[in-house]
Amino acid sequence: MSRVYNFSAGPAVLPEEVLKEAAEEMLDYRGCGMSVMEMSHRSKVYDTIIKEAEQDLRDLMNIPDNYKVLFLQGGASQQFAMIPMNLMKNRTADYIVTGQWAKKAYQEAQKYGRANCVASSADKTFSYIPDCSDLPIDEKADYVYICENNTIYGTKFKTLPDTKGKPLVADISSCFLSEPVDVAKYGMLYGGAQKNIGPAGVVIAVIREDLITEDVLPGTPTMLTYKTHADAESLYNTPPCYGIYICGKVFKWLKKMGGLEVMKARNEEKAKLLYDYLDSSKMFSGTVEKESRSLMNVPFVTGDAELDAKFVKEAKAAGLENLKGHRTVGGMRASIYNAMPKAGVEALVDFMRNFEEENL
Ligand code: PMP
Repeated sequence: MSRVYNFSAGPAVLPEEVLKEAAEEMLDYRGCGMSVMEMSHRSKVYDTIIKEAEQDLRDLMNIPDNYKVLFLQGGASQQFAMIPMNLMKNRTADYIVTGQWAKKAYQEAQKYGRANCVASSADKTFSYIPDCSDLPIDEKADYVYICENNTIYGTKFKTLPDTKGKPLVADISSCFLSEPVDVAKYGMLYGGAQKNIGPAGVVIAVIREDLITEDVLPGTPTMLTYKTHADAESLYNTPPCYGIYICGKVFKWLKKMGGLEVMKARNEEKAKLLYDYLDSSKMFSGTVEKESRSLMNVPFVTGDAELDAKFVKEAKAAGLENLKGHRTVGGMRASIYNAMPKAGVEALVDFMRNFEEENL
């Protein structure tokens, strides 16, 4: 068996320990005689799995009691519609557009009401986070929406916007559990699991209880109503059982590692290795304003598309995979989520240094 260093933006690297444990439990989950994949979601055994997963997430994020944790499906993209369907009571919401995913959410919301773009970084190809300290928040806005970490462009909000009292809704798909968060500052946080948490197919939403009501937009399907899932404790219908089980294992791994403070320190250390090298390199450069740099997704370029392609090809041959940048921006991108070991980033930096020496 040989595993590569996988820098994919998602689905992405998972802790090896978690994968091994899942492999050991594949045929017979703890004496049940069946795999978690084969088990009724109404069984006692599965109930323990999903309840423990929720509790471990609550412990890790320090989630206050007046917030619900929902395990959903449909990808993060389904939330682009579910959020306005459930939260746009006044049919008005303010969006901060800092990349493709925020833009998609903003465009989707326009189907349901008045979505205002109150700030954007489109003028400089989303390479920075705009100043959000005094935005023209609509008095009628039901919420203010951000994508907190922009997977494609590699930017992250370092301070949250001043929403002037409106609930903040944040897509945290690519920074989920990468550092501590103060959940009480948000009305809702959500993300797809397939970057920092587990397999694709699971979406986790943390929503303040007062925002979960029956008063949703007319025509909202039962399955797309948060209250349906909140009332049924994420077991209204068959949930993505196996995916949730893996998420639960990752939560336990994170707890064992020491929690989110420890992950933050590790992630800062890893990101610094790469950013310091990029800042000193004569060949490679980062594409993002320094103050806005993400700890999770690090885009970089040589400035020459042919050289970029050569780099990606040779890196792959050296066991450093999925370094090609997003198809809309080109260049390279290294995603260095929680499960990427420091040794993986060191191997990448060593490889870049050699490549630079050989090709400059
Ligand atoms: N938001 C962010 C920040 C993302 O990075 C992605 C996917 N890469 C999405 C939303 C869309 O996620 P999904 O494919 O699960 O719909």
